[in-house]
Amino acid sequence: MENLARINGKTELVGLLATPIGHSLSPAMHNMAFDQLGLNCAYLAFEVGNEKLEDAVKGMRALNVKGFNVSMPNKMKILPYLDELADSAKFSGAVNTVVNVDGKFVGHSTDGMGYTRNLKEHGIDIKGKKMTLIGSGGAATPIAIQSALEGIAEISIFARDDAFFPHAEENVRIINEDMKHLNVKANVYPLENVEQLRAEILSSDILANGTGVGMKPLEGLSVIQDESMLRPDLIVTDVVYIPRKSKLMEQTEAAGATAINGLGMMLWQGALAFELWTGQQMPVEYIKEQLF
Ligand code: NAD
Repeated sequence: MENLARINGKTELVGLLATPIGHSLSPAMHNMAFDQLGLNCAYLAFEVGNEKLEDAVKGMRALNVKGFNVSMPNKMKILPYLDELADSAKFSGAVNTVVNVDGKFVGHSTDGMGYTRNLKEHGIDIKGKKMTLIGSGGAATPIAIQSALEGIAEISIFARDDAFFPHAEENVRIINEDMKHLNVKANVYPLENVEQLRAEILSSDILANGTGVGMKPLEGLSVIQDESMLRPDLIVTDVVYIPRKSKLMEQTEAAGATAINGLGMMLWQGALAFELWTGQQMPVEYIKEQLF
């Protein structure tokens, strides 16, 4: 933090409830932004898992904090402790940002919003597009839900035959039934069905990896086994940002397609949370220069 002198009796607290937490970039990101804009707020991370979550939220209420982030393993568990949910959180069943609105704790999911906002920064509007999305966990689900909320035409979700497959089916059901008014067509397929994957990518504008494949301990691996599935006019996005260039991003560049790694999504989910708490825009370019 550049200017500790600004902490005083009126400083408002913004927090993060997660575990493990030591690696998080969020405290640095938000405190730099508070400093830069001269806001009298401080962001602190608290090592909190599921068992202490309810007490921690009660504590946040008692302290009348400005808001807080929630990360793994608390994103889904926190829902019952909140007063209201924005659509982003309601349909994805997960919260990463809580805003204190006159004592009411309102949950949002800015992960998916960060994803679509980052696409916009790259000149891509998902309206009317088709996406093939791989995965159905904590990162993939908000991508699917927010893309649906923002007018994607069709989304084909592929998931591995593991404990997450029912999540993929549930995400597709939510989009087709609970979000029916949005007229988005959602499909679900096993990731093992390689020919279906090829066909869906061929008719898609965007291929999105929403899994940790490409990052430790799966570094050097890719969800795409056959590079001929990629083509120059395809947009390929990854949630992985360490390494900056995952195997999938390498394959994408080699195919001459547009490669967008997970860094922008991460930055923008923070920027959008910051905006929800403060009503001000995060100085994103400055943060990028300082942190990335
Ligand atoms: P998760 O455990 O909730 O979900 C993991 C998903 O990956 C599941 O769908 C699972 O089926 C799938 N999967 C796991 N191993 C696989 C394999 N070998 N092959 C195919 N599919 C596999 O995890 P998560 O919270 O969704 O996180 C996933 C990744 O996204 C992590 O690398 C995380 O760091 C990253 N992430 C990035 C951002 C960002 O802002 N860029 C945000 C959240 C998460």
